[in-house]
Formats: sequence, structure tokens, C-alpha cells
Amino acid sequence: MARYTGPVCRLCRRERMKLFLKGDRCFKEKCAIERRAYPPGQHGQRRGRRSSGYGPQLREKQKVKRIYGVLEKQFRNYFKDAERQRGVTGDNLLVSLERRLDNVVYNLGFASSRSQARQLIRHGHIQVDGAKTTIPSYQVKTGQQIQVKEGSRKNEFIRASVETARGRGIPSWLELDPDNFVGKVIALPTREDIKLPIEEQLIVELYSR
Ligand code: SF4
Repeated sequence: MARYTGPVCRLCRRERMKLFLKGDRCFKEKCAIERRAYPPGQHGQRRGRRSSGYGPQLREKQKVKRIYGVLEKQFRNYFKDAERQRGVTGDNLLVSLERRLDNVVYNLGFASSRSQARQLIRHGHIQVDGAKTTIPSYQVKTGQQIQVKEGSRKNEFIRASVETARGRGIPSWLELDPDNFVGKVIALPTREDIKLPIEEQLIVELYSR
């Protein structure tokens, strides 16, 4: 599966905001946004910001893709699905992204970033309703139990992530038993549950051009 392998802090700098792609480092002074909060490249400091039109629409789409770690083709497929569903397309798009297994594993605190969550899933450390699931894009459903495989609960990265995440809190649509490394989807997320600063209408406008 194709994935972005370049420098990730550069992505945050391009969007001029923290996208929290690197786990603990994002909360420390070493964060690139704390030190250089302007776009990368020779002309980064001179680059202005357009307030309307194609530029902001493109940036919003890139931002959401980067937060969730989804590449262009897959993102477009999410958008097509969101259009086919009932309701507001922008809301449907964000809810589908939020329901990804890697996002859930990150939000439960089993991983310190969504990319680390993808790695844990691909390597078989995560179970859904007791069965190994190795697909990071798997869409979770209400009532499902997401847990760290018993043999992986001593993994130092997972333990450290759970400890760090204790103070972070988890979304209201998830439930967590941190001592047993088990989480549960108590309801499907709604747009109100997604606290990220996203203007999804701009993405809908971009793809409607
Ligand atoms: Fe983004 Fe985290 Fe890098 Fe800061 S440390 S620039 S939030 S990925």
C-alpha cells in the first residue's frame, strides 16, 4: 500500500498548524511549528495566504488528508462514498475518516500517532471483537471491541502510549479500560464529536469544481 515517507513536520509547516503527526514530540519545544511556523522552502516566509477561491480549498483538503494519513486516490474514494450517503457530504466524509481503525487505535491511546497506530495494526497487534485485523482503513461499528492482543500488552511503545494518553482524554463515542487495553465503540461519531479545526465545506467546493 502506497504511503507518504517524506519528512512529516514539513507537512505541518506547509499547513501552518500542528497536525500532531509525530506523537510526543508534537507536545514539546522541539516541534517544528514552535520554532518555524512558516511554510518550508526558499520562499516560505514570503508566501502569503489567499482568503478565498482555489487556494484555501486545496489547503483544507491537503490538511485533512495529512491529519488522517490518507493519500489522494483513497481520499477521493472517501469523498465519492460521502456523496452517495444520505445527509451532508462534508459531515459524512469526516465521520468515515473518524471511523477508520487507525484513528480509533490512536484515540484510545494505544499509539502516540495515527501512523504508529497503522503500524501496530499492520503488524497484527490489534484485535477487533477478538479477531486480528490488519487493515488500518477498517471502518469500526457500534458495539465493537478494539483491543491490544494479549501477547502485545507488554510492548513498551504501547504501554508508554497508554500512559501518556491517560491525561489526554478520549472522544465521547469511545470507551476505554486502560488497565486491560480494551476499548469499545459505544456510538458512531457525529460531526460534533470531531474537534479538529476543519472547514469541510471547502473540500466539498473543491471537488464540485
Ligand atoms: Fe507537526 Fe508534530 Fe512535527 Fe510539530 S512535531 S511539526 S505537530 S509533526
